[in-house]
Amino acid sequence: MSAQPDAYTEALDRALLHAQTWLASLPSRPVGPRVDADTLAALSAGPLPPSPTAAADVIDELAAFAEPGLMAMPSGRFFGWVIGGTLPAALAADWLVSAWDQNAALRFATPSTAVLEDTAGSWLLDVLGLPSDADVGFTTGATMANFVGLAAGRQWVLEQVGWDLNREGLTGAPRVRVFVGAERHEVIDLTLRYLGLGAPIVVAVDDEGRLRPDDLAVVMAAGDGPAIVCLQAGNLHSGASDPMAAAIDVARQHGAWVHVDGAFGLWAAVSPHLRDQLTGVQRADSWATDAHKTLNVPYDCGVAIVSRPAVLRGVFGVHTSYLMAADSTPENLGPGDPFEKVPELSRRARGVPVWAALRSLGREGTIALVDGLAANARALADGLQSMPGVLIINRVVFTQVCVTFGSDARTRRVTQQLIADGSAWMSGSRWKDRDILRISVSNWSTDAADVALSLTAVERACAAADRDAERD
Ligand SMILES: *Cc1c(COP(=O)(O)O)cnc(C)c1O
Repeated sequence: MSAQPDAYTEALDRALLHAQTWLASLPSRPVGPRVDADTLAALSAGPLPPSPTAAADVIDELAAFAEPGLMAMPSGRFFGWVIGGTLPAALAADWLVSAWDQNAALRFATPSTAVLEDTAGSWLLDVLGLPSDADVGFTTGATMANFVGLAAGRQWVLEQVGWDLNREGLTGAPRVRVFVGAERHEVIDLTLRYLGLGAPIVVAVDDEGRLRPDDLAVVMAAGDGPAIVCLQAGNLHSGASDPMAAAIDVARQHGAWVHVDGAFGLWAAVSPHLRDQLTGVQRADSWATDAHKTLNVPYDCGVAIVSRPAVLRGVFGVHTSYLMAADSTPENLGPGDPFEKVPELSRRARGVPVWAALRSLGREGTIALVDGLAANARALADGLQSMPGVLIINRVVFTQVCVTFGSDARTRRVTQQLIADGSAWMSGSRWKDRDILRISVSNWSTDAADVALSLTAVERACAAADRDAERD
């Protein structure tokens, strides 16, 4: 084997062709996969072949094998979970990241990606309206970005009571109380498990799933000691955000660290029309968001933002002679090394597609992206509202719409018919003790035609569901 440039050309040409074929198929293919995983598993290549295969042939086989089982998640008519598409500049930049093959851990070793990620980080702080001196780390997703913020919080609140976590560990440490709203994302509980913090203390929420500051005040006052308050920007169902200013005021009275899970909802802060929903959010201590959701960069790209760089680097910094890390002292931290801000040491330069996405959009384009998602959610809600028997059960303030079609049974039938129809994809879920169809508008490319086609698909699904019900 040799690594002559030609060794790559044929395989990359094939990859480009297959990628373009896939992207060109999005407007017309059914959104859902045509085969399930069990069917594909039966067709898979079996044991590892004994002899080599040419790279270009491997890529052809891969594309042909995968095609029927791909979900058109980058489609403008994909509204499942909360899943962004990919902006052209971000996708192309992601390919370059792979071709460059930089280990993005160290400023000294890979200066280009370190500086591009620093720039992407400062652009993010700018558009999100967060403190310009915060540290930004690029993680796999929002789960790990939440882990980073909460890890920094754990370190800091224990430091406040004189407990050196790095030396003493958690065993025997004062109990850290973590407060969360009843409708936080489940991964918050998961990250608390990773962190050895146990189960959170649950605070009541209102009709839109927003944490109630009055209840936070009551439950915080019921105990004392180190505390973390974990707020949410963007409820998965309603899209609403916790009342930041009021909740942060309560948290401050108890000396708590405030972390915000804003996987998609933090992006409301970008828009002059939407940012009122997040007033005060910049006063938190740490924030987690995804670039692979609202910003529409490829997976994997979460963003961990921490207002106290010294704390963050105390958690994730590693100082051994072989790494030759950036010079920094507690007094003058400097930009730091990328690895001091995230759990991984070796990793791809996943912040570079963020640079490319923001560079291609500019400030105006970034605002237009976020406003456009919210406007399409509004348009879908308005169209659905006018159909008989349909009820929207959230206030549509951002990108999320929750719909019922009468009884739970009818809602489930409509959801099944819609997914079988294939021209739009929306998730079934359960909220406020009801089965719902949940729409999340997260794709940059969704346009008026996608909205219209999706509404027609829902109408067809309703008709088919009712025919089904009569037959039963
Ligand atoms: C998506 C999401 C997460 C998890 O993010 P991943 O990128 O999937 O790890 C956490 N919180 C909220 C509110 C989310 O929407």
